[in-house]
Amino acid sequence: MLVDYEELVRTLETQSCRHGAGGRPNTGTEWRACCGMSYEYLNDLSVLDALQVIIDSTPAHESNRVKALIEPLDGRLRTQLSGSAGRRRSETE
Ligand SMILES: [Zn+2]
Repeated sequence: MLVDYEELVRTLETQSCRHGAGGRPNTGTEWRACCGMSYEYLNDLSVLDALQVIIDSTPAHESNRVKALIEPLDGRLRTQLSGSAGRRRSETE
């Protein structure tokens, strides 16, 4: 899950993905046709909420470690989303 999340953030940051033929990166229109629907994907699948579920289900002694892994990715993702899905979880707690 964390690996998938990091890949998703990287895809948004670089506007490319690794799914091209023969292992080439997809960019431009190829990327948009492949992983370029990530904004809708995020909204539909609520990746951020899924991550909260992971945190909530993590034993307390592990949760700080998991948060330390997720939070930098979370920040990068929010930057990419530019506020459209940038509801800050900390404000709802
Ligand atoms: Zn792709």
